[in-house]
Formats: sequence, structure tokens, C-alpha cells
Amino acid sequence: MTTTVTGSAPGRVNLIGEHTDYNGGFALPLAIPQRTTASVTARDNGTVSVSSSASGMEPTEFGVDTVPGDVTGWAAYVAGVFWALRQVGHDVPGADVRIDSDVPTGAGLSSSAALECSVLVALDSLAGLKLEPSTMALLGQQAENGYVGAPTGAMDQMASMHGRDGHVVLFDAASVTAEQVPCDLSGAGLELLIVDTRAPHRHADGEYGARRRTCEEAAHRLGVSSLRDVQDDPVDDVLSRLDRVLSTPSISLSPPSAHADSSAPARADADEAPADDVAVMRRRVRHVLTENQRVLDTVGLLRAGRVRDIGPLLTASHVSLRDDYQVTVAELDVAVDAALEAGALGARMTGGGFGGSIIALVDTDQDHVVGDAVREAFARRGFTEPHTFTVVPSAGASARRPSR
Ligand code: ADP
Ligand code: MG
Repeated sequence: MTTTVTGSAPGRVNLIGEHTDYNGGFALPLAIPQRTTASVTARDNGTVSVSSSASGMEPTEFGVDTVPGDVTGWAAYVAGVFWALRQVGHDVPGADVRIDSDVPTGAGLSSSAALECSVLVALDSLAGLKLEPSTMALLGQQAENGYVGAPTGAMDQMASMHGRDGHVVLFDAASVTAEQVPCDLSGAGLELLIVDTRAPHRHADGEYGARRRTCEEAAHRLGVSSLRDVQDDPVDDVLSRLDRVLSTPSISLSPPSAHADSSAPARADADEAPADDVAVMRRRVRHVLTENQRVLDTVGLLRAGRVRDIGPLLTASHVSLRDDYQVTVAELDVAVDAALEAGALGARMTGGGFGGSIIALVDTDQDHVVGDAVREAFARRGFTEPHTFTVVPSAGASARRPSR
């Protein structure tokens, strides 16, 4: 008898904690109701056939033992999962894999993690591996980094694996751990409205890299391995220290090989940063440190059952991303302002920025009012009509075997 196991894994949205993960900081994503399912049936001929109901995703077939580069396109996410599992010694069988999903792709809701995690939980069940959720999340990340070639952190997969109804997931990028925190939006009469601005991601990769390098350089100048190491110090103290080290030519920086951005061309006097670089670096550091604190403050409020009070923290996060980290675009700012004016308790861009979505915390019966206000503001400026929908914190990945 052939057994079919169905793995199901959600997309995610980040409630707060943006551009903190690569600085060893905190983020607070939640699993959303939109999910990807992988129906997986074992095969005994050592091959994997994959198909997806998503438009434009062609079916294909490959061996269980492919290596990065062998399979490209969407199927690489599935081949990557087989590869990652086999890399750590799990002898997963060939399989017939059918994917179905209502997670929008490329909207910043992590359809890629949902795809990886749905296949992972199905294979885990099929092969009787009994892997821990965090282990599977890291294997999903490994598939995406090592096989697909996308240099992402583990936050998306951790959210998809650890999500839970009525809870958000506190992700600690330093220890790569996740903790579920109660966030009963429905109980508080609230929903999260997602506004996909449909603004294209302009310059996102280059700008992301530049910010990452600036933060790594700041940590390096402060003599720590990541900005997380100065998180417990008052922000103003850290910024004064940064001012001091940047204005004083330092004698012994680490050797170039250990430098955070060794690929950048060496500056003639790398110890003395130009004045506007210093101002920019201060802002970037201020965002990361204050954003981590906002995540912790949000967790504090949620643990105290004060869900309605997190709104101002969300809005403060947006202001910091707009003014200090400078990763917003007009569509994101207009959407946040319109949502707040229409009565949202708080609103912010979510994801990496330079396009993508915002979230707004709204009363359950107000999502249409707020959505319409954003649509009108977009129409007035000639922006593409945004796509809006609501989410509540939902269950994480799980596998189901047939009962018969
Ligand atoms: P995001 O994760 O933010 O949605 P990514 O670019 O990381 O965006 O991942 C999107 C890619 O993941 C798609 O282009 C496709 O290759 C793959 N993918 C996601 N969902 C599906 C699906 N249901 N069927 C086939 N491929 C999918
Ligand atoms: Mg993705």
C-alpha cells in the first residue's frame, strides 16, 4: 500500500523587528492563515516528481541525490529540501510531490519558507525522522541558502514551523531560537490588515547589502562581533562611543581578512570615516538598537495581555525605518499615513522595504474603512491599486497521515 502524507505550512508576516536578524537581534513574526500543502507519496525508484497548482510553475522530475545547480526554478526549493536532508544523513526516499498553496508568491509573505516547510514536515513524517521543528527550520534555510542560492536568515522558516494560533513567534537571531508569545488579536477585537502596495522592489538587493555592511562595520569599530553585543547598553552611550571611535584614528583594527566587508575596495584611510558616513552609520545603529528594544517592549505588552497597546510601537518602528534606516518608499509611507489617519492603532512597513507590504493593526470591523482609505490615497497619487487582506496569528507547520 502506498501512503500519502500531506504536509501543510503557513506563510508569515513580521509584526515588528525589521533589519535586526542579520545583526543578531530580535524579530516577532506570526504564521498567517494562508498555507502551502505538499502531498507526498513515496516512490521506490529514487526519483522525485514535483508539480504545483501555481500558475507558471512547470512540473519536473529529478533524482533524490541532486546537488546545487542540478535543479533550477521553483523546483529547486523542493530539490533543496531533499539535498539538505541527505546532507545530514537522512536517507529520504524518492517521492511524488504535489504542491498547492494560497500564499501569494513574492509579496513578502514567505511563500518560499512555506513551500520548504510543507515538504519538510511531509518527508519527516513519511520517513519517520521525528525531527525537531527548529531542526527542520534550519534545514529549510539550508535548502534556500545552499541549493536555491538565496542568502536569507532562518526567521521565515522558524515562523512557519513554530507558528501557533493566537501566538506570535519571538525569534532570536543570535541563538537561532523561537519562543511562542500569546497574541490573541481576535480576543482583543483586532485584526492585522496587510496592504500589499504592489510597488516593485527597487534597488532592494544593493541597498540591503549596503546597510548590512554598514552595521557590520559599526560593530567592528565598536569592537564587538555584532550589534547585539551592545544591545544592553543605553543607545546614547553606544552612539557616543561610535562617535569617538570614528573620529579617532584607531591603531589596530582587525586584519583585513577578518573585516566585515572584505570585498569592498580598501579606503586610503579606512580608520577615518567621512562625516556623512558617520552620520549615516549612527542612524543605522540607532535603528537596530531601538528596533530590538521595540520588539522586547511589544513582547512585554503582549505577555501582559495589552494587545491594543502595541500600536504606537508599530508606528515608531515605521518612523525609524523611514528616517534612520531609510528603507521605505513613497507607497509604504503613504499607506502607513493613510491607515493611521483612518483609525488604525498602529501601522508599519513589513519585510525588507523598498516596496512590498505594510501592516496595520485595526479593529475587527474597521478593516474595510482603513483599506479603502489607503486605496483612495493611492488613487490620488496615481499609485497602482494596493491589494488588502486581513490575517490573524495561525498554526505552524504539521503533517497529516491518512486515517484509513
Ligand atoms: P516570498 O518567499 O517572499 O514569497 P521568494 O522569492 O523568496 O518570495 O519565493 C518565491 C518563490 O518560491 C517563487 O518564485 C517560486 O519559485 C517558489 N514558490 C513559492 N510558492 C510556490 C508554489 N506554491 N508553487 C511553486 N513554487 C512556489
Ligand atoms: Mg522567500
